Amino acid sequence: MKRRDFIVTGSLALAASGGVGSAAKPNLPSDTKLRILAISAHPADFCSRTGGTLIKQVRAGCPVRVIWLTRGETDESSLLYQKHPGISTEEVRRIREKEAFAAAEVLGVEGRMLGFSDHPLDMTPERMDKLAQEMADFKPDIILTHFKDELTYPTHWRTAQSVIRAAQLAGVSWDIRFFEPTIGTANRVGFIPDDYVDITDVFDQKVTALKELATQPDLIPHYTVCNQWRGLECDRAYAEAFVHWAPRVPVASTLSR
Ligand SMILES: [Zn+2]
Repeated sequence: MKRRDFIVTGSLALAASGGVGSAAKPNLPSDTKLRILAISAHPADFCSRTGGTLIKQVRAGCPVRVIWLTRGETDESSLLYQKHPGISTEEVRRIREKEAFAAAEVLGVEGRMLGFSDHPLDMTPERMDKLAQEMADFKPDIILTHFKDELTYPTHWRTAQSVIRAAQLAGVSWDIRFFEPTIGTANRVGFIPDDYVDITDVFDQKVTALKELATQPDLIPHYTVCNQWRGLECDRAYAEAFVHWAPRVPVASTLSR
């Protein structure tokens, strides 16, 4: 795949989203349904960090898709190796992929598994092209992914950097929003939210989806606390938090409260 192919393929999305390198809001009619693309390093990340937001977008009638870069067969599957000594890596990959799609089904989103090896996540030029092509095909208005400065977790950090680069290659929306870094590291990596989504009315459904990710049972108590904490920050019961990649420039006709 040549770079210029992405530019051609993504040109319509470019026109609709304000352009690569632009922080402009999508220039879309108010009734247009935003196309939401979540890009997750591992099977569970999309669900734990932005699952409630995805449910709300689905309920609003938006096309929503998740792309997993890996099946998480080493980074986030230790429980399977503990419970099943001698289990093959291939079997772990199969179980994790099944969990990922089951969680996506509960959320109501489409899933695309790229299945790259996860430790280390090596984004070769061919894999970058594959990711860019996936973006060009879906034409997202908003991309949700890992925090660009999550230096404490190399696979997540690599995913964020790859997503930013692939969005340029594909010529798709520059409206990239980062979801939570690994639980407990937000302060250390400088994750200061500038965007919140109230997920109070969909939190139970998010928990149901997290139950499908049985290899990581701690996600439910951890993200219950996290979503309650983010809720405290914005005066809601439960919320998910994000950081924009490109600075926003809000414009209003007058001051308001
Ligand atoms: Zn992960």
